[in-house]
Amino acid sequence: MMVAKKKFHSARLHVRQFLSKYRYSLASIVLILGVWGMASAVAWNYFEQEQELQEATSQQQLHELDQAIERLEAEKQAQEKLEEEKRKAAAEAEAKKKAEEEARRAAEASQNTQAGGTSGSCNTASSHTNPNAIDVMVNKKHCLKPLSFAPPDLVSTHGATISAKAAADFNRMYADAVAAGQAFTVSSSYRSYATQVSTYNYWVSVNGKAAADTVSARPGFSEHQTGLAVDVGVGGCTLGCFGGTSQYQWFQANAAKYGFIQRYYSGYEHITGYAGETWHYRYIGVAAAQDMQAKGIKTLEQYWGMEGGTYR
Ligand SMILES: [Zn+2]
Repeated sequence: MMVAKKKFHSARLHVRQFLSKYRYSLASIVLILGVWGMASAVAWNYFEQEQELQEATSQQQLHELDQAIERLEAEKQAQEKLEEEKRKAAAEAEAKKKAEEEARRAAEASQNTQAGGTSGSCNTASSHTNPNAIDVMVNKKHCLKPLSFAPPDLVSTHGATISAKAAADFNRMYADAVAAGQAFTVSSSYRSYATQVSTYNYWVSVNGKAAADTVSARPGFSEHQTGLAVDVGVGGCTLGCFGGTSQYQWFQANAAKYGFIQRYYSGYEHITGYAGETWHYRYIGVAAAQDMQAKGIKTLEQYWGMEGGTYR
């Protein structure tokens, strides 16, 4: 028992001695450990914060990327919608155009019927049918073929729109009339098929077809559509007024020299189909016009031996 107690005392003494001997070293170790621990904690903390920051940043970037993708997709959809609308509008415009074209054709067809049939049945002549030739016959028995013919060589000169085939002689006539003190004006020349359609239909709507036929040629039956006819006057003195002018006397004496003839004389209605028109001149070329004048023939129907008068 005593021995054990003595051993214990000895051990405590050794510990005390040890502590006393190494107290500075031990204090230093504790201090170093403490400083190291704190430094580690600070470093760890910093590292964690840094990592959180990085995570937050990459999440923010991801979010922004998502938003950008959404924006792009929205833009793409808007673009597609716009193009779809454009396609639809174009298709609608095309359909509308087609419908209008169809309606116009149907209207023209009905007008042609109303006006006396198609060119197949309204002109059965075997000669004088070429609308591009200066010897074409156009009267109430002979429509233009095709009915909607338009001269390909129209020119504008001295207030007239006429076929180039008549222009040179017309210009000579105009210059000579002016030189002779007989200047004239043009009140009407080329008239298109479409113009004649609306003019004729206007008169039909006013007084009916029979009355319209007395004042307006049916579409496709007017000499004005050939580009070879002119209505002349002297300023405001046009149509019936022209017959009382000195210019009319000059035309009677001289128009044939330039290939023009007065197309409708009074007293020949049953042959030409029209009442006298002192103002309406038709180009047939110098040779034919002078030949008619020399022979004293007053109508193209008689000169070419072709049927005239009223409509079939
Ligand atoms: Zn005329």
